[in-house]
Order: sequence, then structure tokens, then C-alpha cells
Amino acid sequence: MTAPTELLDWWERGEQHLGTALGRVTDEEFGAASLLPGWSRAHLLAHVARNADALVNLLGWARTGVERPMYASPEARDELIALTAARAPAELRNDVLSATRRLAGAVREMPESAWSVEVRTAQGHTVPAAAVPWMRCREVWVHAVDLDAGVDFTDVPDDVLAALGDDVFRMWDARGQMPDVTVFAGDREWGSGALAVAGPLPVVVAWLTGRSTGEGLRADGPLPALEVWL
Ligand code: ZN
Repeated sequence: MTAPTELLDWWERGEQHLGTALGRVTDEEFGAASLLPGWSRAHLLAHVARNADALVNLLGWARTGVERPMYASPEARDELIALTAARAPAELRNDVLSATRRLAGAVREMPESAWSVEVRTAQGHTVPAAAVPWMRCREVWVHAVDLDAGVDFTDVPDDVLAALGDDVFRMWDARGQMPDVTVFAGDREWGSGALAVAGPLPVVVAWLTGRSTGEGLRADGPLPALEVWL
């Protein structure tokens, strides 16, 4: 297995995109609500920073063969995020950017052979290390929207949007939670259920990822409630 070049490109652009969104948030706005229920922007950014560290752990595990979980436990994860979110805005901003740089460094250190080494995610899934850039990619593109800093799904490249749609359906399939829909966006199509749902790709992906209730979609009947994605 080689380094996932396309994914690395999407991921790097996603980090830049998130950095741009972050640059628009003033210190005073850190405490205000993000678009994720119950999470302030500071909490969301803290999660993004600690997620980068967690993925550095997985890449280190793949590179060295020494098991390093993303987080010691779910409680430890929540505690780390809460501690990070309590920092002053300038510190938190630096923390996000330096955690991102550490992750970029860990990616550069990966020998080709290490990308196929299997590691375990915080959800307990066994994946090759090559899946890690995608795990980060979906975090940065979607949380840039959640930050409520003036970017939305129309700012996400079509290829990344399509991959997000694939990811949502893959998750539902794995958990036996497939909704009874067939979803159309341009030349993309997901599912094989009874209800046809169609719309522009950004609108579709906002709905599939739980970031909208389906405004702007066309359907033959009422939209179903969707299971959460992640
Ligand atoms: Zn996240």
C-alpha cells in the first residue's frame, strides 16, 4: 500500500480551509455556540486539536508497532477536550494550529510500508493507517462548517462531498441503520430505498451528515429521520 495521495491532498486543503475559518473567529466569539448542539466554538476547536493528537497516536502506532490508542478512554477524551476548551482564545488558536502541524509531521514521517499497518479507532474499528488521513479530512471539512464562521458545505470540494456521502452510507450499512431512501445529487447516487430524495450535492451532504433537516431537498414524501453519522 502506498501513501493515499488524493486523500492527503483533500486533507491538506481541509486543514487550510479550517485554518481560514478559524482566522475569522474573534477572541470574543470563542465562547459562543457552534452549530453542534451543546458545543461552544471553543469546545469544538478543542476537540479538533485533541483529535489531531489522537491521530498522531495512530500513525505512531502504525510506524513503530507499539500500540498507542487515540485516547486512553472515552472519559479521558472528554476531560482533555474540556481542559483544552477552557484555555484562553489565543492559546487555543495556537494549540489547534500546532496540533495540526504535529499531525502533518507524523504523516511525513510515515514510511510507505506503514500505511497498511492495522490500527484501532476510538470506536473500536480496525482500519489500516491509510484510513487516518480520511478520518482527519472529514473532521476538518465538516467541523469548519460547524464552527459557524461563514463557511458552509458549498465551500467543500465536490469530490470531498461525494466521499462524505459514501462515508455516511458506509457507516449506516455497517450498523444496519440504512434509511429507506435513494439519494440523488447530480450524477451521484446512494442507497436503494423506496423514497427518492434529490438535491444539490452540498445540500444533500448537509442533510446526510445531520447538519440540516433537509431544507432545499426534493422528495416524493416526508423525509425520514436519519441515524447519526459518527
Ligand atoms: Zn469530530
